[in-house]
Amino acid sequence: MALKVAAIKETTPGERRVALTPEAVGRLSSLDVDVLVETGAGAPSWFTDDAYEQAGATVLDSDDLRKTADVFVSVTRPDPTMVAALRAGQTVIGLLRPLSDPSYAASLAAGGVTAISLDGIPRTVSRAQSMDVLSSQASVAGYRAALTAANIYDRYFPLLVTAAGTARPAEVLVLGAGVAGLQAIATARRLGAVVRGYDVRPASASEVESLGAQFLRLKSVESAAGEGGYARALTPEEQEAQQAELAAHIAKHNVVITTAQVPGRRPPLLVTEAAIAGMAPGSVVVDLGASDLGGNVAGSRPDETVVTAGGVTIVGAGNLASDAPGAASAAYSRNVCALLAHLVHDGALAIDLADEIQAGIVIAHDGAVVHGPTNALLHPNDGPATERSAGEGAAS
Ligand code: NAD
Repeated sequence: MALKVAAIKETTPGERRVALTPEAVGRLSSLDVDVLVETGAGAPSWFTDDAYEQAGATVLDSDDLRKTADVFVSVTRPDPTMVAALRAGQTVIGLLRPLSDPSYAASLAAGGVTAISLDGIPRTVSRAQSMDVLSSQASVAGYRAALTAANIYDRYFPLLVTAAGTARPAEVLVLGAGVAGLQAIATARRLGAVVRGYDVRPASASEVESLGAQFLRLKSVESAAGEGGYARALTPEEQEAQQAELAAHIAKHNVVITTAQVPGRRPPLLVTEAAIAGMAPGSVVVDLGASDLGGNVAGSRPDETVVTAGGVTIVGAGNLASDAPGAASAAYSRNVCALLAHLVHDGALAIDLADEIQAGIVIAHDGAVVHGPTNALLHPNDGPATERSAGEGAAS
């Protein structure tokens, strides 16, 4: 019998993405996977129930879906009602954020549900690149960050020579040149802005320059490259020196886009209140790192936009990938298909905790939390986790 994989309707407020698009149905058919879709799941990203049915999927209401499916795929975490309705032996795949809320993983394990969290895909394993939802969604978010800034900025991004005079190009600074930052740089460049990029990983300099932007080199922090291609956290002294040196550069830019993250930590503060006070009225700051714990920019809050007394607009970007749900869902869906191609054998999920990719993403299985870092958070007094390596990418 074919494995039944169901895309559920997202319940996180404001979430417009869907985990599987109609295109996935054809991709998964060769794996002997039947695709089920919750009624209306694709509607916020303009994939109609008809489109799924025409592709060969079965559209069901939530009750029938829960009874029928073997595997549920979502973007954000299924809500508590859904979790309570799951039965032992079923599987949930999504961005489950086990490290920011390990109790969620524990509740799935208690119900005998297998939990697979895409935040843990090992990003340096080349065969896992096609499954890397962190990269695909960060790329969409970086693109939208540049467009958001351009939309709010009250002047042109490109140099324009017209009969009414010459408009200077916008000066854009992108702080953090990982996946999102590089996409923001590329997009701002395409719009004609003069772009500079900065990162604490020196390796990112050539990537920034290959996009036609200048790499900003600071004297205060020469390198803070960490493990696995990520940055390490700065010491308090380094951070203070970095903030002070950055402030002088920030003051010379019309637009600042921040994307800096350190795995497992709250986002580093790069743009201080003093730096914002130094910016000209009309300047725009987009903080992709905005979180409830604070972001890269002093005072930013997710999904809030404020204009300071000095006339600087600060956008606390919440979920920019969801602002382009068609592109984000298409990429996410392909990532999920690649993962299922890795996991499904003979019409069933072949869970193997010794597999390098699965070690990072299988969080709960056979009634237990099996992910070392999640277990370490659930049982902090049990000493270091020994049964599994972290294998987890960015903080979830
Ligand atoms: P991320 O979201 O963890 O962080 C974004 C950027 O912020 C990073 O480039 C980081 O160096 C930077 N940063 C952190 N602290 C900073 C600070 N104080 N000041 C300035 N910048 C700071 O990173 P990401 O976008 O997920 O990617 C990180 C790395 O992983 C990159 O090297 C990327 O190329 C690599 N990566 C590799 C693969 C792969 O090999 N398959 C896939 C995805 C990403």
